[in-house]
Amino acid sequence: MQDLMKGKRGLVMGVANDHSIAWGIAKALAGQGAEIAFTYQGDSVAKRVKPLAESLGSSILLPCDVEDLASVDTVFAALKERWGAIDFLVHAVAFSDKSELKGRYADTSRENFSRTMVISCFSFTEIAKRAAALMPNGGSLITLTYGGSTRVMPNYNVMGVAKAALEASVRYLAADYGPAGIRVNAISAGPVRTLAGAGIADARLMFNYQKRHAPLRRTVSIEEVGGSALYLLSGLSGGVTGEIHFVDSGYNIMSMPHPDVLKQ
Ligand code: NAD
Repeated sequence: MQDLMKGKRGLVMGVANDHSIAWGIAKALAGQGAEIAFTYQGDSVAKRVKPLAESLGSSILLPCDVEDLASVDTVFAALKERWGAIDFLVHAVAFSDKSELKGRYADTSRENFSRTMVISCFSFTEIAKRAAALMPNGGSLITLTYGGSTRVMPNYNVMGVAKAALEASVRYLAADYGPAGIRVNAISAGPVRTLAGAGIADARLMFNYQKRHAPLRRTVSIEEVGGSALYLLSGLSGGVTGEIHFVDSGYNIMSMPHPDVLKQ
């Protein structure tokens, strides 16, 4: 299949470098003809994101820190001026203080709880509202989540709580925007070696454990997440909204490691 995204325009938020999940998604979308605008968090990220955006022919690259709502508004005002309307949006943004991505969830501070929730959860609601205003003919939005939302993943802590709220937001937003033909879904990715992933204590152990115990006996690539995002952002998934779609080599279906693996 070719040109699934031809004539479609949208925004990808969350590329930090060429290991970012958002980059895997952007490559898949551009490969099918999408025109993409990118945001980056700050100057230190800009020098890595600029050549990546240019390599996909993007001419819109804007700074955006989701903690600063004015910068979010500036992005959507610029998109309105340049394109008038958009067809899709990718939210691949998350943050929590590294010092609390280890140890007990019970020790989470109020300050970091609030900050984690605003950046990693509520920003999607704020961004969805602004994106929907630029989707008069409908559209598709996705965010990125992780299985630590529903089951305890050691050290994931407050981020698991934020992802649970993010997944609930996906369902509420899907109900709110469905009548306007706007679909809202999430991809629950298995562990990927990225900057954000590296912030979690013992990330390598978790990565290797899931690699060993997932039905496919491997982790997933950003290109595979990109393929599923392409499905969710294109007309191929026209009847799908409010879903949490796992791209995790099947890890989430297991209740315990397979005995064959335990015997090894
Ligand atoms: P990444 O570090 O490449 O991307 C995280 C992005 O969030 C970065 O681009 C960073 O600049 C951005 N960000 C953080 N705070 C921000 C702020 N205040 N304003 C704007 N942008 C901000 O890591 P990634 O793993 O590609 O993360 C993308 C998404 O995928 C996140 O939501 C993450 O939780 C999710 N996810 C990651 C994994 C994994 O194992 N890496 C698994 C499942 C889900």
